[in-house]
Amino acid sequence: MTVYQEIFDEIQKANKIVITSHRSPDGDSIGSSMGLFQFICKLGKTVHVVHPDKAPGFLHWVQDVHQIEIYDEEKEKAAELITGADLLFSLDYNASDRVGAEMEIFLRTSKARKIVIDHHLNPDIEFYDIVFSDTYTGSTSELIFRLIEGCGKLDLLDSTIGTPLYLGIMTDTGSFRFPSVSPETHETLAKLMRAGVKHYEVHEQVFDTNTLDRLKLRGFATSEKIEVIHDLPVAFISLTSDELNKFNYEKGDTEGLVNMALSIQGIKIAALFSEKDGVIKISLRSKGEQIVNEMAKDLFDGGGHKYASGGIFYGSLSDAIDRFKNNLSKYWSA
Ligand code: 5GP
Ligand code: MN
Repeated sequence: MTVYQEIFDEIQKANKIVITSHRSPDGDSIGSSMGLFQFICKLGKTVHVVHPDKAPGFLHWVQDVHQIEIYDEEKEKAAELITGADLLFSLDYNASDRVGAEMEIFLRTSKARKIVIDHHLNPDIEFYDIVFSDTYTGSTSELIFRLIEGCGKLDLLDSTIGTPLYLGIMTDTGSFRFPSVSPETHETLAKLMRAGVKHYEVHEQVFDTNTLDRLKLRGFATSEKIEVIHDLPVAFISLTSDELNKFNYEKGDTEGLVNMALSIQGIKIAALFSEKDGVIKISLRSKGEQIVNEMAKDLFDGGGHKYASGGIFYGSLSDAIDRFKNNLSKYWSA
């Protein structure tokens, strides 16, 4: 039996299905969650999506996104759903701690059958009953499409299921440009369009909805706060919480900013340091020669993909930057 059929059988058997994803939602965690949610709804089954925290504003247009139960906002209700579930999906994350320490407790104690569908390296296979992991695929949303196709249910695909999947594929592949994009990715996109997905609407919703403050913050960051490290093809941007507040920072406003630093000619690694909620959030990106997830893991208690990772630092912004600068040579294999 294929993993697709196995997962489909679990869905058919289950009565209380809960879909979870990682903290700090992005296009792929929302896209894969809502794509699978809509698919299961179309099968005529009841299903809930429980996420640790709320999606940033640029994802609020996604159909039924407001039905997602947010753990941070309604802890008891979210915990009850997870505890009472008979089938739990973990989408777009590879280890239960990516939902945050509090929500993780309920995942760990839940008696539900557990399925992970993900594209990050090293999934925690001990924790799950079924593992559908493919680290060569650019997005979890593409894996959800493969699941629907693989269990023979492509006839159910419509724009309600397909639009969030298109969103997740688009955002996690940097608009179909990363090496993870395959001929199959484009075949998937074609099938999504044939099912009625209006691709131009998704692009417009994600890329043409800047607030003036957001655009000004990006201008400020790229003109005033970018630094290129002497003698190394490395650039970084740093933003204090005061600077973010000056531009009325809202969640999601720094999304993709690290890529501005990476886009500089000759730069191979870029970082973004931002002071948020009293901690320093780090984003690391690479053009593909050097991996950055080891650095994220060792220095900033994080992880992620080989060329796109992130982490966190408890301390001052300048200490975080020093830690990065002082250790760069260790990770430099050129
Ligand atoms: P971003 O820079 O967009 O916040 O994150 C890029 C990628 O790095 C994410 O898709 C995720 O895989 C990983 N990542 C970001 N923050 C963390 C973190 O705190 N811990 C871990 N393990 N991975 C992270
Ligand atoms: Mn993803």
